[in-house]
Amino acid sequence: MPNITLKGKVIITGEIEAVTGLHIGGAAAGLDIGGIDNPIIRHPVTREPYIPGSSLRGKMRSLLDRHFGNDVNKFIQRREPVVRVHECETEDAYATCAVCQIFGVTPGDQRRQWTQLKPTRLLVRDVMLAKGHEATERLRRAKTDLPFTEVKWEAVIDRITSAAVPRQNERVPAGAVFAPLELVYSLYDLNGTGCQADIDWLQHVFKAMELLEDDYVGGYGSRGAGKIAFTNVTVTFKSHDYYQGTGTVLMLDQNRKIGELQPSRYAQSIQQAVGGTQ
Ligand SMILES: [Zn+2]
Repeated sequence: MPNITLKGKVIITGEIEAVTGLHIGGAAAGLDIGGIDNPIIRHPVTREPYIPGSSLRGKMRSLLDRHFGNDVNKFIQRREPVVRVHECETEDAYATCAVCQIFGVTPGDQRRQWTQLKPTRLLVRDVMLAKGHEATERLRRAKTDLPFTEVKWEAVIDRITSAAVPRQNERVPAGAVFAPLELVYSLYDLNGTGCQADIDWLQHVFKAMELLEDDYVGGYGSRGAGKIAFTNVTVTFKSHDYYQGTGTVLMLDQNRKIGELQPSRYAQSIQQAVGGTQ
């Protein structure tokens, strides 16, 4: 029987700063009185803007796929607009595919005759507006168009007559801070083969975060929106022993920006904490 043992969890925490305005789309307007054309997503209870973990995770995955030049072979939606992603088709391909191992593959896909377990390594939590943070309080006091957000007018210009069609996009203003950011990366021993590949591939999570800083989150990225920075990033490791009550939390990096992190140094510390190369 296939078996799976958790060897530990790498926990990446920090903050996300909106370097430019942020537009992560919500449900189409119309229900709210005075609803605008392109609203952002808000927490259903507090009505505060937030960054869904799925938005961060999806973007990190697609940027890594491009980095590695992975096949875009799976249709998520066949009708317009067509949406395709990468997902390994065979166990042989999966065995060497960091992206599918880190981000997971669809369970129970009937096209596959897969026999081995395929756990997802990385989970990314939703990131709320930072509570009590000076940036949040500033935003709360500011006379923005809507609570915590600005409405940015843009126009589509007819190329011949120059007639303009104005439309409104809701954005979280630059300078907003979201926290706590939390990414959890699990190391697994599958069928007694150890977790060395998981330790080696952890570096790709940080690569994806750096790629994301140089890209954008949400919509209108090509028009300036969505640039973010990860700040106060802290990386810790909790081993299997820790969860059994006999180990301590291992501090790998503390309060750094992405460019200051040194993930190449983590591997050895993690290997020692999980007991050699097991
Ligand atoms: Zn793959």
